[in-house]
Amino acid sequence: MKDTSPIFLIGFSFTGKTSVGQGLARRLGLAFVDTDDEIVARAGKPVSDIFAHDGEARFRALERDVLQEVASRQKVVASTGGGIVLDPANRQLMLEKGIVVCLEAKPETIYRRLCAAEAGTSGGVARPLLAGQNPLERIRYLKEFRQPYYTMADWTVHTDNLTPEEVVEEVLRGKKLLDNRPESPHRYQFPPSTSSAGESQAPYCQEQGAAFVVNTPSASYPVFVGWGTLHELGQRVRNTGVGGSAFVISDSHVSELYGGQVQKSLEGARLKVASYSIPAGEESKSLAWAERLYQWLVSQRAERIDAVVALGGGVVGDLAGFVAATFARGLPLVQVPTSLLAMVDASIGGKVAVNLPQGKNLVGAFYQPRLVFMDVETLQTLPERELTSGWAEVLKHALILDSSLLEEMESKASRLMALDRELTPQVIARSTAIKGRLVEEDEKETLGRRVILNYGHTIGHALEAITGYQRLLHGEAIAIGMVGAAMVGNAVGVTPAPLVARQRRLLSRYGLPVSYKGLDAEAVQRAMGLDKKVSGGTIQWVLLEEAGKAVVRKGVPQDVVQRVLGKLLS
Ligand code: NAD
Repeated sequence: MKDTSPIFLIGFSFTGKTSVGQGLARRLGLAFVDTDDEIVARAGKPVSDIFAHDGEARFRALERDVLQEVASRQKVVASTGGGIVLDPANRQLMLEKGIVVCLEAKPETIYRRLCAAEAGTSGGVARPLLAGQNPLERIRYLKEFRQPYYTMADWTVHTDNLTPEEVVEEVLRGKKLLDNRPESPHRYQFPPSTSSAGESQAPYCQEQGAAFVVNTPSASYPVFVGWGTLHELGQRVRNTGVGGSAFVISDSHVSELYGGQVQKSLEGARLKVASYSIPAGEESKSLAWAERLYQWLVSQRAERIDAVVALGGGVVGDLAGFVAATFARGLPLVQVPTSLLAMVDASIGGKVAVNLPQGKNLVGAFYQPRLVFMDVETLQTLPERELTSGWAEVLKHALILDSSLLEEMESKASRLMALDRELTPQVIARSTAIKGRLVEEDEKETLGRRVILNYGHTIGHALEAITGYQRLLHGEAIAIGMVGAAMVGNAVGVTPAPLVARQRRLLSRYGLPVSYKGLDAEAVQRAMGLDKKVSGGTIQWVLLEEAGKAVVRKGVPQDVVQRVLGKLLS
């Protein structure tokens, strides 16, 4: 790199690119250019107006022109717009022609600087980034979206605790090292890309409607919960950066009901759509069906720019998710759950799996989706028994972690069971967020924090297994299991008796079973010992200490369990 080559400063807004660029230019006796200022001068209007009136594409075209011109010059320091790195041609050009320095700052620092700028000026600079309900969150997501592109830099300076003068010194230090490096024939070449990422594709950037965002070490994704929103799905999928085809996997019931609407919405967002329907039911969650889906994706020439859209209950979510996780080492996955269980449980957390003849979910992975999109209105067609079963999971979340949600579910049971269009999405969003928060704390179930989600599962799973997964729906088994866990909790002095009764009343109110007759208690106890939730030979019991507070206990005496099962099953 020649000493006279341009220096490009890249990085997020409010990392100090302009002031540092000016200081650097002064120190080195070079010219200074701010690419955004150049664009404004050419367009004769502010950046925000170009975005609003002419669109992002126009802004990016102007930006490209300005950059090309700057890159052809020598002895210049250029401070660039935060999104300039989104275009692969821009990245290539900067790396070829000059030295690229990234100025970094934590989202919190950016937010602090932004608020200070807002207070100190008329507000025009900071306002677009401060828009929305949670600007810090917004900054975090936008920054995260751009971060992989910022890693292209030859030199990065973390500016959080430095003055602009100190940052200039750091850049100069980097430049000196870079000037002395041997010319490498192997400078990183970005692979040719079919399209450049648009800012509007940034998750959360324009996603004001997201109920919440799940943040795990491996991925972040927005969760949308609404009523009558299926027509918005296409745009939401587009905003995640998916740009090719959407491969919709659904089952025979759900595709019949919603396949057409989903296809229309996706096509409306200029996505190519292909659909595959599996037979409804747990039997389809198998390697044989996964294989058929792989063959289909091969025939469709699916690539990583495409997405798998799982439209249906937990069976479709688990199977399509498993296929998305493994085909071509991973295709983007969009979960569109249509059963209550899938909404509040299966679609969140990234567990995807198929069953083997030897057991359920024996082959699987943790694979987080890009987007979870729930239209609660679809529950109107869910069979009554399935809906009731789903309420068990919602109640479980409230019982273990949210006493105010529990009170709401008690006082508004009729409206919820009738799927009130205002209330139900709110309650589902709250319940889903509880699962989301637990997933964030313990993405791969290594820390044991997710274990409280197994409330009711110790007995529930045993009941499901012993009845051959035929007689009880999952939520029904969990409801009985929660009754049993409360009785166990009471017997060992953890769960107060009024809470045992309150839980039983509530489960009955929602139409859920609170006992199960005709099974052998000893056989159930044996099945409990075989369950996955057994750790080191002892069962970990999730028990309620109070409403909204669960604890984990080991070493519950066998005779206590026997007595409880005796009552529960007689
Ligand atoms: P399911 O997918 O079989 O759906 C139940 C039935 O409802 C099916 O017949 C389906 O076609 C139908 N259906 C779904 N939505 C409908 C709608 N809106 N209108 C009409 N019919 C509709 O079962 P499920 O209860 O949704 O999910 C159970 C599966 O989820 C199990 O395989 C279980 O292992 C899995 N699961 C996974 C996780 C996870 O974290 N991945 C968590 C819990 C459960």
